[in-house]
Amino acid sequence: MASLGHVAIGLAVGRAHGKSRDSRSSWILMAFYSVLALLPDVDVIAFRLGVPYEAPFGHRGAVHSITAAACVGGVVGIVAALRRKPWLSYASLAAIVVASHGFLDAMTDGGLGIALFWPFTTHRYFFVDADTCGTHRSVDDLSLRPVHHAY
Ligand SMILES: [Zn+2]
Repeated sequence: MASLGHVAIGLAVGRAHGKSRDSRSSWILMAFYSVLALLPDVDVIAFRLGVPYEAPFGHRGAVHSITAAACVGGVVGIVAALRRKPWLSYASLAAIVVASHGFLDAMTDGGLGIALFWPFTTHRYFFVDADTCGTHRSVDDLSLRPVHHAY
């Protein structure tokens, strides 16, 4: 169900970007940004290719980084410019939406963390303390502060 948060970001950005457009264009933008918000999870194909989870191109690795988000934004900006659309707004919103995926994933305690700053470092980040959260999730986990349970 974590994907709902990603889609919500895409829908919100698409809605805001398509605010002054007709209903059909607005829905297309909402779908477009929702797909971009889910895009980083294409790296699950790494499992099929035998790439280890902890490898730079493993799940939640390079494809979840800010650098990858900037690259996607660049490609979207080029395509928008070729189609004579306001390329800067498309590029920046695409980069923000894709980058949001890694930040939202980092707010979970699943997996090995997110390689947000790849290629500068392969360190994987959590915004919650995964060691102390474990599987004992509570409302405290939503505070983004390390949670220390007295079990
Ligand atoms: Zn993800």
